[in-house]
Amino acid sequence: MLQRIRGAGAIFRARAAGDPSRRRYPVGRLRPGRGGLVQAGLPVLIGLLAGLAVAWLGHPGSSAVRLRLTWAFSPGSDTVTVRVMPAGGTSGRQLLASSYLTVSENGAGPLRRWPAGGEVAVPVPPGRRTSLLVQVTGPQPLRQTLTVTAPPPPRISTSRGTVRPARLYCFADPAGRAVYITIDDGWTPSAQVLALMRRTRLPVTAFLIQRAARQHLSYWRAFVTAGGTIGDHTVSHPDLTTLTLGQATAQWAQARQALGRWLGHAPVLGRPPYGAFDRTVEVAAARAGLRALAGWSATVSGDRVQTWNGRPLHPGEIVILHWAPGLGRQLTTLLATIHAMHLHPAPLTPASFSGIAPQQRSLSGD
Ligand SMILES: [Zn+2]
Repeated sequence: MLQRIRGAGAIFRARAAGDPSRRRYPVGRLRPGRGGLVQAGLPVLIGLLAGLAVAWLGHPGSSAVRLRLTWAFSPGSDTVTVRVMPAGGTSGRQLLASSYLTVSENGAGPLRRWPAGGEVAVPVPPGRRTSLLVQVTGPQPLRQTLTVTAPPPPRISTSRGTVRPARLYCFADPAGRAVYITIDDGWTPSAQVLALMRRTRLPVTAFLIQRAARQHLSYWRAFVTAGGTIGDHTVSHPDLTTLTLGQATAQWAQARQALGRWLGHAPVLGRPPYGAFDRTVEVAAARAGLRALAGWSATVSGDRVQTWNGRPLHPGEIVILHWAPGLGRQLTTLLATIHAMHLHPAPLTPASFSGIAPQQRSLSGD
């Protein structure tokens, strides 16, 4: 990593040394930049494929400064975590309590905003350089730009050659305040949902279990005609992480082929049952012809939308529902929230994940 000072702010460049395809990172190899900023590397965590580097930044020469920014790039999850810390003492903590931290990409709208002291984790796209504008507002404003270069996703070698895994994403493109409605399994189709789609052109993705879809083919044809998108939710809904690569590939591929045969288009997106996945499941999906896997960040329980962080539904979130009794009511609840938050349901496609950080760990759900 190296650092430059530009004006009052600082530009940071974070780059992995060595072969990026190995996704192994040196930890905290920082050099002092010009201008006498104090920094040191601190190893925090080295996972199987991930390292975490933290740079501690100070502003010597300004004795009034009691807040400092810390940031870390986690290659395991392709996220940058930014945090404001009080330099110590009661006054530092008071200052923190009345400050806000905003992180935005390339100066575009705020990606994450949080009372300072809370961490802000921002996904950055792999294989690209991203500029993040970090601003603290409050009694002691701070403004810095981080430039982070995340490595490209790894390629996996299998007996059939090199396959780039179909990565799983829990968030999608937030542009235009988009949110994404996905409905899983397919055992109980809903005439109410179909009517709503026809009336309002509501974009919905149905991740169908092949065995469930087969029971209601005329419904799913009408769903596609109404603008719905079909996704692959396997043949029989197993936990794919318990299967071999060959078995997992067959679960994706057979369902994909059958759905394509029955409904006109072979799915390009998949969703692993229970949100359970690992690298084998992602490679199996790619071998079956899927381009990406969709997780979720929000669900509907009772009469409220439950997001991953307990905060209001946010642009870019993927909501999961199920084709089950009560779906119509849940969708009504969801649409009321979507309206209230001025969000816009959008179709989910592989392009929706462009520039989004993939998920690293299995989800818990169905
Ligand atoms: Zn399911």
